[in-house]
Amino acid sequence: MITKEKQKKCSKCKESKPVNEFGLNQHATDGCQSWCKACDAAHKREKRFNAPMKARYDYEKQLRKNERHRKFAEEKGLTKECRMCKEILAATKENFYTGNGKLGFGSYCKVCDKKKRQERRQRRASQ
Ligand SMILES: [Zn+2]
Ligand SMILES: [Zn+2]
Repeated sequence: MITKEKQKKCSKCKESKPVNEFGLNQHATDGCQSWCKACDAAHKREKRFNAPMKARYDYEKQLRKNERHRKFAEEKGLTKECRMCKEILAATKENFYTGNGKLGFGSYCKVCDKKKRQERRQRRASQ
């Protein structure tokens, strides 16, 4: 009689593999992980490599988008309202710090931004 090796279907690649192809998991009902070792390793590798790359990619995409918006604002001579002092200023680097807000700048004019930062610093110092 041929004793067939116990097989388990990997929930990721859907292949049936011998149980020794699966890592151990004390919490699983059958004591094995639901993904085979190959899939688990691939997944871990993917996660490790992709996560920082994705974050970086998104960050660079955002930077390019901001740059485009600033260029557009400059070309069109657009203005931007400071959310704090409500003053409407030309949307340029002279008036606003670059940021992820509208037109690629922060929400506050440079004057307000500085004030806000100073207040924050003072508040932190007084605590
Ligand atoms: Zn697998
Ligand atoms: Zn302002």
